[in-house]
Amino acid sequence: MKILNLKREYKTTAMAESVSVVGAFYMLKFEYGKYSCTCPSHAKGGNECKHIVAFKEELDYIKSQREEKE
Ligand SMILES: [Zn+2]
Repeated sequence: MKILNLKREYKTTAMAESVSVVGAFYMLKFEYGKYSCTCPSHAKGGNECKHIVAFKEELDYIKSQREEKE
């Protein structure tokens, strides 16, 4: 899965491309220590969906890249 358009401002947002629905995208958000996603899986039960998992990995990766530079 690809994480797209990741932006880090006062909150962190990104888009995830749907694997099952071609051309569909879900909006990811990390704000006040909470992750959210607009996909049905997360909307229903508030579960940590695969998009959030990928989003977290991406954020961890960016963080590790920054720490290496400093
Ligand atoms: Zn999701």
